[in-house]
Amino acid sequence: MELWVPGSELDRVGDDRIHPEWVEGLWDADGARLLRVGSAGRLPLDGSGGLRFDRTSGAFDGQRHLLVGLVNGVGVFALDAEPDEPTASGRFGMVTLGETDKDIAVTALALVNWHRVAPHCGVCGGDTLVGAAGHVRHCPSCRRDRFPRTDPAVITAILDANDRLLLAHNTAWDANRMSLVAGFVDAGESLEACVRREAFEEVGVRVGEVRYVSSQPWPFPRSLMLGFVARAESSYITVDGLEIDRAAFLTRDEYEQLLADGRLVAPGSVSIAAALIGLWRRGELSV
Ligand SMILES: [Zn+2]
Repeated sequence: MELWVPGSELDRVGDDRIHPEWVEGLWDADGARLLRVGSAGRLPLDGSGGLRFDRTSGAFDGQRHLLVGLVNGVGVFALDAEPDEPTASGRFGMVTLGETDKDIAVTALALVNWHRVAPHCGVCGGDTLVGAAGHVRHCPSCRRDRFPRTDPAVITAILDANDRLLLAHNTAWDANRMSLVAGFVDAGESLEACVRREAFEEVGVRVGEVRYVSSQPWPFPRSLMLGFVARAESSYITVDGLEIDRAAFLTRDEYEQLLADGRLVAPGSVSIAAALIGLWRRGELSV
């Protein structure tokens, strides 16, 4: 199942972007577009809530101009630079974007976030150079290529035997906000083991069957969310009290009622949490 921008028209041109002269030609071509990504991941928006692009101008600079890809044969580039207002933070600004613009936004954010923290080689500490139109950093000293990093994190819709969904409140959130259990994959850990560990650590629930559903990039700053559904072996909950202070299994009716009363704030509409909960609400999520 593909929940994240299945209709995106962004072509990542992985084979072509390694040729600098080809990329430079894209930069100089009519219609080429540039997206500025500001500090804290702020993105420029137009009046109707779409991304606001600049035209590319000046000479192509392979160390700063990052090729996101092609849309309808036209190059789309990203640049780490403050955009003019109006802007929105990436995770909130994406709500109004179409699928292709969402794809462009998360790719631009992921690239810019990576370059900000990767100027030096992780092996020898030497200065690295950008290659492949922004998708590689090369270390001339030890001749290694480095690629953009992504941190895998699992997020799980835990269902009990009565098909109730477990929602949990994180201590860092507003009082009524609740979402699914989630966490980063440990070193050397499989995704399935991570699902089981996070469920037990955060809400004290042992899960039986675990099934992968879909994924979503979440470059804040560099996560890839891997969505699962799992069956709880019991409906007994023990929150950890540190990360999670409240959790409950809810029926669909209870969920709708709490939402209608304003006693429950659901995850943001762009998140994979919202997509998984939406599947459950429509009766389309099975273990
Ligand atoms: Zn090196």
